[in-house]
Amino acid sequence: MNTKEHLMALREAANDERKAAEYLEALRWGNDPACPRCGSVAVYRMTGRDGQREKHLRWRCRDCKRMYSVRTVSVLEETRLPLTTWCHAFWRCCASKKGVSALQIQRETGIGYRAALFMLNRIRFGMADGADAPKLFGTVEADEAYVGGKPRCKNNALPSERPKQGPKGNLAPVVAVVQRGGPVRVRHVAKVSGATLRAFLLDTVDTGARLMTDEHRMYIRAGRLFRGGHETVQHSAKEYARGDVTTNTIEGFFSLLKRKFYGTHHAVSREHLHRYVAEAAFIYNARKVDDLERMRLAVKAGEGKRLFFREPGTAAA
Ligand SMILES: [Zn+2]
Repeated sequence: MNTKEHLMALREAANDERKAAEYLEALRWGNDPACPRCGSVAVYRMTGRDGQREKHLRWRCRDCKRMYSVRTVSVLEETRLPLTTWCHAFWRCCASKKGVSALQIQRETGIGYRAALFMLNRIRFGMADGADAPKLFGTVEADEAYVGGKPRCKNNALPSERPKQGPKGNLAPVVAVVQRGGPVRVRHVAKVSGATLRAFLLDTVDTGARLMTDEHRMYIRAGRLFRGGHETVQHSAKEYARGDVTTNTIEGFFSLLKRKFYGTHHAVSREHLHRYVAEAAFIYNARKVDDLERMRLAVKAGEGKRLFFREPGTAAA
C-alpha cells in the first residue's frame, strides 16, 4: 500500500467492520497472509453462501485445517470489541507523540472507559520489547527519572490514609538507555540502585559499548563493565557537555516521557506504569517513520503476543 491507499483504507476502516478487518490484515500480513498457528501460506478466506466473506471474517488453513482471523495469536485475541474501534485506537496511539488516554478513546468511539483502557493496555503490551530485543552498542547514554504518580491526597486525610511518600513523593522510578542515533530501552524498577542499574545495563547494552552517564555514584561499578569506557558529565558543576560526552539524548527522551504523563495520563497506577513507558519507547524508536508506518509497526508488534486478563463487561464468576 502506498500512503494514499493507506489513508483511504484507514478512513474506510472507521465505519465498516469488513474494511477494518481487511486493513488490519494488510498491516499484519502484507501480501503474504500466513496461518498464525503453523505458518503455512496455503490459506484462504472463508466465504458465505452469497460468495462474500463469512460474517466472522475468518480464514482457513489447508495444512493445520484450523480457522483463524486477524485477531488470532495477537493482542486482539479473545476480545469482542469491534475491529473498527481497534483500528481507531491503534491510529490514535501512533499518530500522537504524547499518546492518547482511555478517556479520549471513550469520547471518540462511544465504548466504555474500562473497555477503552483494556484496549489501550493491550496495544501497549504489544509495543513492549521482548527478551529478544537486540542489545544497544556504540555510544550509549544512561539515566534515570521519576515519572507518573497519583494526585496528592487530600489535606484532611487521616495519617493512616495517606500514601507512603518516598524521597520523590509517589513518583515511580524509571531507568533508560539510548544508543546515539538508535533505539531506547526503558524499564520501570522498584528502586534505583547500583544493583538495579547494573542488571538493567547488562540486559540491554552490549559490553563493548561506550557508556555515558551523569556523575552519580550508582553508575561507577556498572560503568566498569563496559570495554568502550565509561565517561561522565558533571551536572553538579553545571557541565552538560564535554566534547561528545553528554547525556542530552536520554534526557530528551525523559522530557518526552514526562510530558506524556503531565499532558495525557494523569493518574497512572504503578501496576500499569510499565505499559505507558513501553509505549513511549516504542513511539520514540519509530520516530523516523510516518504515522501510517508507525501504525503498521504497532499492529505487527502485537503479533504473537496474547494477554489473558479478563475483558470488562464479560461474564465474571
Ligand atoms: Zn495452519
